[in-house]
Amino acid sequence: NIAQTDGFTANTRNWLSGGARKLLIGGEWVEAATGETFATFNPSTGRELAQIARGDARDVDRATRAARAAFEGEWSRVKPYDRQMMMLRLADLVERHIDELGELDTLEMGAPIARIPFMRRRSPSMLRYYAGLTTNLHGDTVQNSLPGQIFSYTTREPIGVVGAIIPWNVPLGAALIKLAPVLATGCTLVLKPAEEASLSSLRLGELVREAGVPAGVVNIITGYGAEAGAAIAEHPDIDKVAFTGSTLTGRRIVEASKGNLKRLSLELGGKSPDIIFADAPMDAAIPGAAMAVFGNTGQVCSAGTRLFIERKVFDEVIEKILAFTASLRVGLATDPETQIGPIASERQMNRVLEYLAVGQTEGARLRAGGMRATTTGLENGYFVTPTVFSDVRDDMRIVQEEIFGPVVAAIPFDDPEEVVRRANASIFGLGAGIWTTNLGRAHRMAAALRSGSVWVNSYQLMDPAMPFGGFKQSGYGRESGAEHLDEFMTTKAVWINTEC
Ligand code: NAD
Repeated sequence: NIAQTDGFTANTRNWLSGGARKLLIGGEWVEAATGETFATFNPSTGRELAQIARGDARDVDRATRAARAAFEGEWSRVKPYDRQMMMLRLADLVERHIDELGELDTLEMGAPIARIPFMRRRSPSMLRYYAGLTTNLHGDTVQNSLPGQIFSYTTREPIGVVGAIIPWNVPLGAALIKLAPVLATGCTLVLKPAEEASLSSLRLGELVREAGVPAGVVNIITGYGAEAGAAIAEHPDIDKVAFTGSTLTGRRIVEASKGNLKRLSLELGGKSPDIIFADAPMDAAIPGAAMAVFGNTGQVCSAGTRLFIERKVFDEVIEKILAFTASLRVGLATDPETQIGPIASERQMNRVLEYLAVGQTEGARLRAGGMRATTTGLENGYFVTPTVFSDVRDDMRIVQEEIFGPVVAAIPFDDPEEVVRRANASIFGLGAGIWTTNLGRAHRMAAALRSGSVWVNSYQLMDPAMPFGGFKQSGYGRESGAEHLDEFMTTKAVWINTEC
């Protein structure tokens, strides 16, 4: 394993050679109740990377008790300013250790190493944004119309113990987007990273302690979804679950959480339309639309997987998209030149390959890619070449179902009303792209598309200050932005009869 990390920071090498990774419960690193571990793999090479504690319901219960004790104890007395300072210290630590954190995501999930400069700015900014809001949380004084002298006001209180269940596609970012509002509002956390990509969350757990966050505020239970994840969804003493993952698992979580009617926020899957009009700024639209689906090897919930192209420029645009796709460098995630890394796991690669077969069986025309990449050096990893299908029908599975890989379906359209109708004909509603130089049309389209985010002459822009989330079966609740904090708070109404 050490050989795989040649060229990496000494910290990453040392950390990885530190033996099986443990659970973080009540400020201590402990083994799972069963003592069992599971393997995590490097998707660029197929080789085992680390052993990780296999947490189950007993561990979730221990972590929940630690989180409850912290919520009711020391943490409840920490003032907003002091929480803010802890978050700023943590942001500094994340920035200082971003090479290690980024390298862990590269090794475990296959995120190209070239992503780290972007992470250096983005990752601490999430903590800093919410740190800024921490000292600005307040209720209202409310005028009532009751007889007598009744003073009424509201307070906003942290909801309590939060269970966060996250996917593997952006491991560090997914952990931070849950952690930041927890710390800002004074909640406590039981975090379950995805079994395919837990390492950066575990390293983050060490930094949380270093930043001075009290024991028990942040607990991390690694393990499988059906064991540790399901136990979080069911636990009667967890007040809220913040889930990011597939729509299928989201439904299971809704069912499992019924016991105590816990609050839920769900960030689920997508099948987002990206629409190129004939008047689009093509120099931006071609690479923009291609990277909207091939970026992060297509493993992005809001990837622009249904590419609608105005018919009169369809052939020309497709040719350019194909040329751009052919120029993309698929390679080891650890290679600084790599633009498209591996699929994160063998299981996910097989799922993507299955969809490639389904597309061809359904009669779609394969224009690029369509297979596992097995060129020398990549043959043991989980690589799939960027794939373009055309001649599709709207009812094909590759047009309706989320693939979560580097696969795009190109679809011609004739007029704006038609493309809105077809773009909205999906159970999902997460992202949408519009490429046009017609300002009025851009606004009309943005209003008509049923999705949580709309990008015009751009794609996938995100910022801690802007909300992100889904319409329809892409979920409910918003992450990022000031309103994200509402998901972690509850309101109390206080009535005082001042005549007594
Ligand atoms: P997944 O649903 O299989 O797993 C997500 C998490 O849920 C993992 O931690 C997993 O262990 C856990 N889990 C699995 N079964 C569970 C159960 N029965 N109970 C509780 N937890 C369980 O999803 P994935 O394959 O890890 O991630 C890909 C999916 O995530 C895609 O559908 C993608 O669109 C979605 N996603 C959405 C967003 C968003 O913001 N909307 C962001 C990233 C990913």
